[in-house]
Parts: sequence; structure tokens; C-alpha cells
Amino acid sequence: MKRYALIGDPVEGSASPAMHRAAFEAGGIAAEYTALHVAREELPETFPGLRESFDGLNVTIPLKEAILPLLDEVAPEADRAGSVNTVALEDGRAVGHSTDGPGFLAALEGAGTDAPGRVLILGTGGAARAVAAELLERGGAVTVAGRNAEAGARLARDLGIHHLHPERTGLAEAVDAADLLVNATPIGGPGHEDASPLPDEVSLRRELTVFDLVYRPRRTILLERARAAGCRTIEGVEMLIEQGARSFEIWTGENAAVEAMRAAALAALEETAPAQARGGR
Ligand code: NAP
Repeated sequence: MKRYALIGDPVEGSASPAMHRAAFEAGGIAAEYTALHVAREELPETFPGLRESFDGLNVTIPLKEAILPLLDEVAPEADRAGSVNTVALEDGRAVGHSTDGPGFLAALEGAGTDAPGRVLILGTGGAARAVAAELLERGGAVTVAGRNAEAGARLARDLGIHHLHPERTGLAEAVDAADLLVNATPIGGPGHEDASPLPDEVSLRRELTVFDLVYRPRRTILLERARAAGCRTIEGVEMLIEQGARSFEIWTGENAAVEAMRAAALAALEETAPAQARGGR
């Protein structure tokens, strides 16, 4: 019996256990997958026990960067992203990977968008970095916009891209010039369900593709606005499924049963959706 776990804080309500259990079952692999609450300050003392007990880990907030110095090896895409969401524990070695960027790209391709073109990413945190790094690899022309001037400047410097402070002028023009708009802030998600990361006065061209990384609710205010404007929209749950499928493939060397993972993820999100979002938007 193989053993896998999601570690982070919080992990309650995560769709990952249901998604991975479904993939193991569909693949006929005897494995268990649990969610373990690990606070950032607990990670250094907890990690030696975790690496002894498990065959692989998923890593979520707030541990994605904190785990880096504890690993024996970091894969190139995780190094570029500056974060790890998947750890393979094999032959006594802990190898960190990031499937966020590849998962994002797979979701983008799944929606029929092959060439990223000009991309505007809202947010300058971990997901923005992972997505920006992956899109750059694929030849995208990437700009990030975020309220955090320091994080934006660091991201821009590290990746050689442009940072736009959204309180300055230029956001509407940058949206207008983009082929792909990505929301990598939590706006639209839990606690911010009634908000949009873009001011209402910024208009959306119908040729724009809008990808919201927020997956709870599935259809955010931003995606509703984009849909109404005639844009192609991509829900964050697609990235959630694809990044999970890539974790599974890293651990097992087998192709993931993506449709089984999708069904399990959608059921888990539906179960934990706020009452007003269920059956509503
Ligand atoms: P993060 O590292 O905390 O970064 C969040 C970013 O959003 C930062 O730039 C932050 O700015 C900005 N932000 C936070 N609150 C804001 C507000 N009220 N107004 C404007 N900007 C705000 O988080 P992350 O890991 O990048 O995740 C970002 C989002 O992506 C989350 O909703 C997460 O659930 C989602 N995500 C989805 C997937 C998926 O598979 N679909 C994968 C990864 C992440 P400051 O630095 O100023 O706080």
C-alpha cells in the first residue's frame, strides 16, 4: 500500500484527497491519500517524519516556498516557479516539483488556446510566478499587475517581464492589448465572492480569453463578466484537475484518469460550495 498526503494550512475542504483517491482507484493502484494540517513553523520538525512515512506529498499554502530548503533536489520547473506543490519520495530522496504551471498550460490547451500571445496576469504571488514562468517558456509576452509593488518588482526582475501597478494608469490599456487575462489573486474566491479583480470600468474585448485561477466558486464574478462580454472563459477547476493529474503521473509513472479526477473534484467542490453558490452561479 502506497501512502500519499496533502500538507498545508488549511487543508480542510480541499478537493485533492477525493481527486487522488479517484485516480488511484481508476488506475487499480493500492494507495491511500490523507490531508495533514501542517503549519509553516511546524514544517522543519515534521518533514523528516513525513519523508519516512509517505511515498509522495502535495504541498499547499503556506508551505510551497518554505519546503524548498528541506528537499534533496528541485526540478527545473519548480526552480523557475520558486515553489513546490508536489514531492516525490523515493529511495530515500525528496524531489520537489511544481505542477501548477504545467497544469495551467494543460488547461489552457484543453480549452483550445495553444499560443499564449500577450498575457496579463493579475497578482504577483506564488501562482502568478508559476504561471508567468511557464508562459514565458512557451513564448508568451507576459505582464503582471498587482498591488504589491515590491513583489511585482521582484517578479519582474527575476523573470525579465513587465510589472504594472494597478493603481497607476495603464491597466485598461494593458487589458485591451492582451490576448489572455489571468486572475492569480484570491479576489472572486472565498471571502471575496462578490468582488472582481478588475474595476468595472475596464472593458473586455470579445477576442480576450479569461482564465480565473479561483476555483471556488467555479464561475466567479470575473468569469461571468467575461462570458457576458463574449470572451472565452476558463475555470480554475480545470487547472486544479490538471495539476493533480501531473502530480499523480510524477508519483506513479502512469497516465492519470483525468475524467475520474474531474468527476471527483467537481463533486468535492459542490459539497463544500457555499449554499448560495450551489445551483446558482
Ligand atoms: P499568494 O501567493 O498569496 O498571492 C496572492 C496574490 O494576490 C498576491 O499578489 C496578493 O497581493 C494578491 N492579493 C491578495 N489579496 C488581494 C486583494 N484583496 N486585492 C488585490 N490583490 C490581492 O496566493 P497564490 O498561491 O498565488 O494563489 C492565488 C490564487 O490562485 C488563489 O485564489 C488560489 O486559490 C488560486 N490558485 C489556484 C490554483 C488552481 O489549481 N486553480 C492553483 C494555485 C493557486 P499581496 O502580496 O499584496 O497580498
